[in-house]
Amino acid sequence: MTATIDVFWHDDALLHDTGSGVFEHPPSPLLAEPELHPENAVRVLNMKAILERGPLAEHVRWRAGRHATIEELTLVHDPDYVESIRRFCADGGGVLLWSTTVSEGSWAAALAAAGTTLAAVEAVLEGGSRVAYALVRPPGHHAQPAQADGYCLFSNVALAAEHARRSGVERVAILDWDVHHGNGTQECFYERDDVLTVSFHMRHGAWGPSHLQTGAPDEVGRGRGKGFSVNIELPAGTGDGGYLRAFEQVVAPIVDRFEPGILLVACGQDANQFDPNGRQCVSMAGFRSLGEAARELAERHCGGRIVLAQEGGYARTYSAFCLHATLAGVLGVETALEDPCAYLPDEPSHADEEIAAIRAVLAPYWGL
Ligand SMILES: [Zn+2]
Repeated sequence: MTATIDVFWHDDALLHDTGSGVFEHPPSPLLAEPELHPENAVRVLNMKAILERGPLAEHVRWRAGRHATIEELTLVHDPDYVESIRRFCADGGGVLLWSTTVSEGSWAAALAAAGTTLAAVEAVLEGGSRVAYALVRPPGHHAQPAQADGYCLFSNVALAAEHARRSGVERVAILDWDVHHGNGTQECFYERDDVLTVSFHMRHGAWGPSHLQTGAPDEVGRGRGKGFSVNIELPAGTGDGGYLRAFEQVVAPIVDRFEPGILLVACGQDANQFDPNGRQCVSMAGFRSLGEAARELAERHCGGRIVLAQEGGYARTYSAFCLHATLAGVLGVETALEDPCAYLPDEPSHADEEIAAIRAVLAPYWGL
């Protein structure tokens, strides 16, 4: 049987206009040319193009995304918060937070991002798909129940997880390899033992009132949720080998004990070696290996059921290549697509000390 991935897309992703300037700040009079805000429509257009034109194209079944309803958003979000975002966009948008800018069209894009992720998880829950990917923006993993953060308005993957739970899946595992801490997803489930959140990220700590979580290993959850928030905080430049070592030594043994019914992946590519927002030096080969490792977990525990949703990934060219490599790994398909930028050396032991410390924190909960 040919491996197939259902890719869910909605054109309203393009309506979210984040403007241009100095990175995520206003334009500088010192420079000749402002650049697009890092989270722009071009990045997802490149991702869509490479899946349409690259070697994986024959494995992709394109599916229509949809808008989430307000009721669906309140699966994890506060109704007043949802309304505040709607109103801010309807009033014309602007700078919502220092790094997060929205336009009038961002409301439709945010509804499409959440709804399209829900459509992807629904397809897998209903059995029509086994492997699905939602190519959406704005991203979601920093959005907390009542707080926007880090380019994110609604927590797309958390909504998908909660939907899966209410559809009868007893245990849901979320694996987040975006280079930033999945603080919003974590916050949605911090006191829960039915949704395991695992975040790989570079060490960046809390970054202000919108982002109080640190992503340090000792953020393990609260109450019955203790042990079910797993934070793999890695040093700058960890690279392919270090990421895989952390996967083998921390993620796989924990997921093996948790035994989820479905695996959700908050799939960012900003750990790539050329990302303006990340410093982790992961290459296409590394992303392929992460995809393979996730597939193995899904096959072992979830009947192969895996749903990925797009998060960050801001190097507009290389992120698309890394996405292609990730999905090839998830499908177990060999492709002839070469890495156009492969040159960084890799040292698998780069993060050994940190990984040992993370295992020590989690040992009481998972017997590592
Ligand atoms: Zn990110």
